[in-house]
Formats: sequence, structure tokens, C-alpha cells
Amino acid sequence: MRFRALVTVVGVLLAAMTVNALAASQVRSVRLWRAPDNTRLVFDLSGPVQHSVFTLSAPDRLVIDINGATLGAPLNVSTANTPITAMRSAQRTPSDLRVVIDLKQAVTPKSFVLAPNAQYGNRLVVDLFDNPSDAASPPTPTPSVATVPAVPVTAPKPAINLPPAPAGKRDIIVVIDAGHGGEDPGASGSRGQREKDVVLAIAKELQRQVNGIKGFRAELTRTGDYFIPLRGRTEIARKKGADLFVSIHADAAPSKAAFGASVFALSDRGATSETARWLADSENRSDLIGGAGNVSLDDKDRMLAGVLLDLSMTASLTSSLNVGQKVLSNIGRVTPLHKQRVEQAGFMVLKSPDIPSILVETGFISNANEASKLAAASHQQALARSISSGVRQFFQQNPPPGTYIAWLRDAGKIAQGPRDHRVSPGETLAMIAVRYQVSAGALRSANNLKTDELKIGQTLNIPSTELAVKE
Ligand SMILES: [Zn+2]
Repeated sequence: MRFRALVTVVGVLLAAMTVNALAASQVRSVRLWRAPDNTRLVFDLSGPVQHSVFTLSAPDRLVIDINGATLGAPLNVSTANTPITAMRSAQRTPSDLRVVIDLKQAVTPKSFVLAPNAQYGNRLVVDLFDNPSDAASPPTPTPSVATVPAVPVTAPKPAINLPPAPAGKRDIIVVIDAGHGGEDPGASGSRGQREKDVVLAIAKELQRQVNGIKGFRAELTRTGDYFIPLRGRTEIARKKGADLFVSIHADAAPSKAAFGASVFALSDRGATSETARWLADSENRSDLIGGAGNVSLDDKDRMLAGVLLDLSMTASLTSSLNVGQKVLSNIGRVTPLHKQRVEQAGFMVLKSPDIPSILVETGFISNANEASKLAAASHQQALARSISSGVRQFFQQNPPPGTYIAWLRDAGKIAQGPRDHRVSPGETLAMIAVRYQVSAGALRSANNLKTDELKIGQTLNIPSTELAVKE
């Protein structure tokens, strides 16, 4: 009897010690980000935990059991514009914390843990995906290029601003990717400027400008302050039917004196310079900060997928370098350049087969002077203008088949740049203007003409044709 009692006591003591060892972790804070289709909760922890997540209905709730943890601080977080109505917690045992989230409507949860890195410690990430069937929050429809119906010739003009383009005259789609977001702030400046904010502002301005060019449509990978894993960004580009993927970033360097903009295209043979390699490393590390969410993916599969991806990428690499060079020479007019040539590096965000892709480092946010420029709306506009000009020039020369721009070119409505014209007998200024698709006014001013009188044999400068701008 006495012996058995002792065994029991030892057993209880051992159990208690195990519990104490597991309970070493504390939940120190909780952070929240709202994305268009999900809400991300990040629990910052003092050490590793085990966890499980399940949902309850009537009323809808999400239960997060964090084993080996206690609550170190109150769960204070703003839940405005999310499906969350309240968050509460209780200690189920001295070492098992239960967090209950009250919901307006059912969600589909996904969760994973992240190991510490340079920026954060151990984290538990819980993504609450909106259920598409929820009438309260219908998903934003994304019209696919292939399913846009052709407008019959006899159809009355719809009373909307941008009716679907007729078959064979579709818009060129540019997907603009603002780097980082959410718990991944990217690089930061000395006065608290954050890369994720600066690049989102530039991306939105670029979208506005590209949408102003007839024959183009721009889409954003992220529209607010939330995290998207790198692979998720190219997936969005593919879903939107991108003809071009432009990722916008701002640099940081150990040397505060480093300055200038750079444009990167993907390398099929590794980085072209040590800086490019260093940058690619730090941008790719973003996934470790924000969490790719696919931690269960088998490493072997990932390697094979990477190899296949690399093999199918060479075709779009030439286009990427070409568009990159055009963007770079336009940027060089508004800001100093860090490198005069398009750099090549293995950015994961650019690994999108068949879609020409570039990454624009708009300047060094680690440089005090450039950081304040990058945060200024006027400079953001100028940067966006130079990128949109480069993109437009590239597509005027290389329009994808079936697009409005390809139709314009085939109809002879895109000039190859400024040319000369020798006036023949019987030609008027108006006739020449029509022939070259420029306005009579543009022709007059390009030649400093006070009247419309022309001399036979006179040489006129024909200005380059600009694409019409959407009204
Ligand atoms: Zn970046």
C-alpha cells in the first residue's frame, strides 16, 4: 500500500514538472491584419507552443487551444471591419490557454507556427478565411480575360464607362505588386518611413496612371496593409491574366550613404552582382517573416517545382530584361540610378513562368535624403510616371496578340517615334496630320509653323504618336 502510494505521488510530481516545463511560454501580444478575403491573427510568444484550432456554430466561434502557454498580456486588438466581434481567453489548466473568438459569421481557419527570426520571436499565426457563401461579404468578382464576352456589333452602347473590350481588342493587364505588408514592414527609414507604406502608395499611383492609358488595365496584388506570401503574389498575377508583373520595393543597405533606384529582372544563372545576391536574399527572407503558410510542403517537391519553374522561365526572361531597361531609362530621368543596367537576381517573387516580370527598387529608404523623397506624394507620382512610361513603351513595341495595342499597331496607328516627311505637291498640313495620326496642332508646334502653308519639298518633323488617353 505504502509503496503504491509513493508511486502515485511520484507520478503526480512528474506530471506537474512536465506541465511546468511546457508552460514556459507566454502569449505576449496579439496582432491583427484584415485582407480582402481573410483576417490574420498573429500571437507573439515567448517560446514554442503546441496548438489546435476548431470552430463551433450557433453562435459561430473559433476556438484556439494553445498548449504550454499562459496569457502574459491582455488580448487587446482592434477588430473593426473583421468578422470578429469579441475575443476572450481562459486558462483551462495552469499550462493550457484557450482563446475563444466570437464571430459575426462562420470562417475557415488555417493555422501554423513560425520560428523566431531577426524581427520576431516564436509566433502562432491563425488565418480566418471568409466563407465565399457568406451573403454578407461576397467575394470581389475577378473577371477573367477568357470569359469576357464579345460585344455584338449591333448592341447598344452600355451606360457604363468601361464596357468589355470587343474580342481581339482586350486590355493589356499589368499586375502591380506592392512589396511586403502586414507584419512584414520591409525596410525602414530613420524617420520611421516604412517600405510597405511607401511602396503601396507608389503602386496605387501607378495603377491609377496605367488605368488612364487606353488599352491597359492595372491590378494590385495587395490593396492594403496585409501580408501575402511571395508565391501568393505571382499566383494572383496568373489568376488576373497578367501580361506583365511589376513588383515595387525600396532598398536598404548597411551603408546609409547608398542611394539610387535599380530595376531587377530574374536571372536564370544566379545574381549578376554581390549586391543583387544580398538583396534577393533579404527580399526572399520576407516569407520567413510573414510565413509562407505551406510549412508542410515536402522539400523534395519544392525543389522539383523550382527546377520546372526555372526551365519554363527562359522565354519571358528576354521580355523582362527589355521592359526592365525601358523602365530603368525612364526612372533615370526622375531620380539617380544605383546601377545603369538591369540587374539580375533570383527573386522568388519574380519566378512567374510565362509572365515577364520586373522588380523596381525605387530608392534607398535607409538613406535619409531618399527616404523623405520616397515618402513625398510628388516624388511617388514622378516615379510612377516613369514606370508607366517604360511599360507603355515596351508594349507599344511588343503588344501581345489579341490586344487593343496590337490592333493599334497593326492598323498603323502607333508611330515608331519622331520621323521626317518631305512635302509632295498637293499635300496639305491637315492631310499629313491624318496620315501620321497626329493632330494638326502637334504638327504645327513640332515645326514652329505660324500658318498652315507648306512648300513643296519642305521637310517636316513628325512628332511621335502618343496613345489616346481614356476620357
Ligand atoms: Zn522590399
